[in-house]
Amino acid sequence: MDPRRVTVFGMTEHRHHRGGEWPEHSAAFEVHDPYTGEVFATVAACDQNDARLAVEAAAEAFPAWAELSAEDKATLFLRAADVVERRRAEIAETLARETGCTIFFANFQQDLVKQELRQAANWVYLPKGEILQSNVPGTYSTAVRRPLGVVASFTPWNGANVLAWRAVLSPLAAGNTVVVKPSELAPISAGLIVAEIAEEAGFPPGVVNVVTHAPGEAKAIADEFFANPTVRCVNFIGSVKTARMLAERAGRALKRSVMELGGYNPMIVLDDVDLDYAVRTGAFSAFFHQGQICMNARKILVQRGIYSEFVERLAERARSLPMGDPKDPATIIGPLITPDAVATVHARVAEAVSAGARIVTGGRSDGQVFEPTILVDVPDSCTMSYEETFGPVVIVQPVDSADEAVEIANRPLYGLTSAILTGDTYRGFELAGRIKCGAVHVNIPTIDDEIQAPIGGVRDSGWGRTGPYSLHDFSDLIWVNVQSGQRSLPGAAFGVAARPL
Ligand code: ADP
Repeated sequence: MDPRRVTVFGMTEHRHHRGGEWPEHSAAFEVHDPYTGEVFATVAACDQNDARLAVEAAAEAFPAWAELSAEDKATLFLRAADVVERRRAEIAETLARETGCTIFFANFQQDLVKQELRQAANWVYLPKGEILQSNVPGTYSTAVRRPLGVVASFTPWNGANVLAWRAVLSPLAAGNTVVVKPSELAPISAGLIVAEIAEEAGFPPGVVNVVTHAPGEAKAIADEFFANPTVRCVNFIGSVKTARMLAERAGRALKRSVMELGGYNPMIVLDDVDLDYAVRTGAFSAFFHQGQICMNARKILVQRGIYSEFVERLAERARSLPMGDPKDPATIIGPLITPDAVATVHARVAEAVSAGARIVTGGRSDGQVFEPTILVDVPDSCTMSYEETFGPVVIVQPVDSADEAVEIANRPLYGLTSAILTGDTYRGFELAGRIKCGAVHVNIPTIDDEIQAPIGGVRDSGWGRTGPYSLHDFSDLIWVNVQSGQRSLPGAAFGVAARPL
């Protein structure tokens, strides 16, 4: 019998994971397929006590994991990448059924996960500190990185698998153990799959633990993370609204927090661009994963001379995108995550239209599948104009100059990612320095992902970076200061003859 899952009345029921075990649970909750609306699986509904036991398991595993050799850690990351490769098709189907992501995006995620695991094998070999220059002869002064202990990682449902791995890889590579609290909307893809693969790869028990919970129960799990002194860092990927609350709690508990949040990502299209490339790049940036990635372009600012043609051609492309069942490999636009998400997108479009905006294409939904939608003439006062709307809806707006585009691009307080499309690469490079975002892509979509780059936000998009740039977030820097022989103490140390410093 597979200890990870049981079959109850023909339905797969997934257990949670702690200390290398898959304990029985007393309650379970349902996960729905966003396309069919059917129950796809049931999953352990953990409570605060389960969270406490998971933290204890992680704490017990911590000293040995921190001490495990770099070679052994690297071997485990590389083995995990091989497991991902082997389970690729099955994981892609789970992602499609649980999160509504297309097979195209599921495979995109799998490829990123493999790259990240293989790179993580190298992070364990990065230097762990520096030798400092001391003023005192014979002193060996060093700054040394040490792991924090237990890291609690909150993972979201949207890029479920790649973000879940990202939320554990850097903490693990820095020598910490992790308890993952996946979104209740994707407990398998954003959590349990990571635990399964870690176990298959041979990670020691307790290094990766996953506490799944029913909708509305996130707070109980979070309560344990904040109350438990063993948890030293709260690592969050999610919405600004939740982040504000969690960062406040982390502050009160004096725990470190790492926040990777949403954005309102502008794309600037200058009139010297190759229009065909601009349309393809705009379509990808706006509509990939039905607009449910934090890096999707929300507003495209186009120089007036090419504005009409750009809008027309982007609309043509939007209408051509195959919509429907995410399990069909040809599908580009799958369902939104929940009926509520569909309602929110409709409400924001309706608000814009009643304020004078025009729908160029789209605006309707079939079940949870929302048409790729282009809005023009959207007043600045509309929510859509400054807030992230998680759906395949993009605003296109004309600008008279690159300067005006930069000014509008910098208006939202978010600052995650952005793009500038131009035929003059150097001009793009110059403008890039003026955009207030954590990433500025010139002639590249707003969505780009390479773990070795410092991916992350500025301003309201949070703090914290990915991969090698995040290792310092998950470690303490300690001054280890060593004197060879005896030091001449200050003031001759109260009467003992010594050279004053
Ligand atoms: P989204 O709106 O994209 O789902 P959220 O910020 O709501 O983003 O969710 C991201 C993560 O935060 C999920 O793991 C979710 O369970 C968690 N979360 C949501 N509300 C709370 C809360 N009150 N306390 C702790 N975690 C929460």
